[in-house]
Amino acid sequence: MQQPLEALKTLLQTDQRFLLIAHKSPDGDAVGSLVGMFHLLKNLGKKVEVVLPDPPAVNIVGFLKGTDCLFYSSDSNAVENRFMEADCLICLDFNAISRVGYMQYLLAGFQGKKVLIDHHTEPENFADITISEVSCSSTCQLIYQCFEGMDLLSSMDQHAARCLYLGMTTDTGSFRFPSVTAKTHKIVADLIERGIEQWKIHQEVFDNNSVDQLQLRGFAVSEKLVLLNQGSHGFPFGYIWLTKDDLARFNYQPGDTEGLVNTILSIEGMKAGVLIQEKSDGIKMSFRSKDEVHVNQFAKKHFNGGGHVYAAGGFSPDSMDVTISKLLSLMHELFPR
Ligand code: 5GP
Ligand code: MN
Repeated sequence: MQQPLEALKTLLQTDQRFLLIAHKSPDGDAVGSLVGMFHLLKNLGKKVEVVLPDPPAVNIVGFLKGTDCLFYSSDSNAVENRFMEADCLICLDFNAISRVGYMQYLLAGFQGKKVLIDHHTEPENFADITISEVSCSSTCQLIYQCFEGMDLLSSMDQHAARCLYLGMTTDTGSFRFPSVTAKTHKIVADLIERGIEQWKIHQEVFDNNSVDQLQLRGFAVSEKLVLLNQGSHGFPFGYIWLTKDDLARFNYQPGDTEGLVNTILSIEGMKAGVLIQEKSDGIKMSFRSKDEVHVNQFAKKHFNGGGHVYAAGGFSPDSMDVTISKLLSLMHELFPR
């Protein structure tokens, strides 16, 4: 049997019409890998289309420029057509079909070849070719390594390099998480040598906050943060809970609470935390942890989610109160004594 990377190379030599997709509520790594791959394949002379379940946050939406990306949430018929026209579907930065939300049936029913390129743990077995590298700090880094491994880095132009840098910096907390290796920095060095201006990308992504967003974050930390580390039976855990009304009060836009959960981990002694947000379809949970505390299995077992060892998401169909009670009753599982 061919190794996955060899199989991908063969596919790139044979198939012509590619459709690229990433997960819902796309973050920097989803958008970076989607658009990075778009440019890499275009430069190989392929016909490439991109679709997403829904739009990304305003600070990264600019990276989609020039791709004619369609969103299923606003144009489902046109997205269906793109699925019908493609020979090959490349799925980026997700490990479970459910991560594409309402587009699941299109992915499951796709007739052509399916490729998955991802770095989350325990990928589902839905693709013909699965390139899964859990130790890789971002899907963008993995795409670079794939093209390096296929000897196709000559197709890396500045557009692609900029996008890969986007995912690499956002998924690593600006290169500070344990997933960052010497290889990560070597790749970044190469991207900079190819002419990207990394400081401009940082400005675009991180210095583009609205006042509402900053005030929502301030409110969340001062009024809605609960720490469980008090007393001898406490846990080094904190949570921030935001209701629909809280979000509406600060004119919430997608992306406004991105990274907010990390403020919990920045508190001295904290080992894990969760951001709990009330959305129209239920309660969205964003877990983060460090050191010996792992959150992906916890999120998977109790909150219909998953992700990485130190960063996972979940969803609760219950009310805010019930969700928080359930979470508190499970603390001993996250912190066995
Ligand atoms: P976030 O908290 O930023 O939404 O997600 C953290 C990590 O967990 C991301 O890598 C994301 O892809 C993953 N993740 C978030 N929500 C879910 C979910 O519902 N299911 C799974 N399997 N992974 C998720
Ligand atoms: Mn990622």
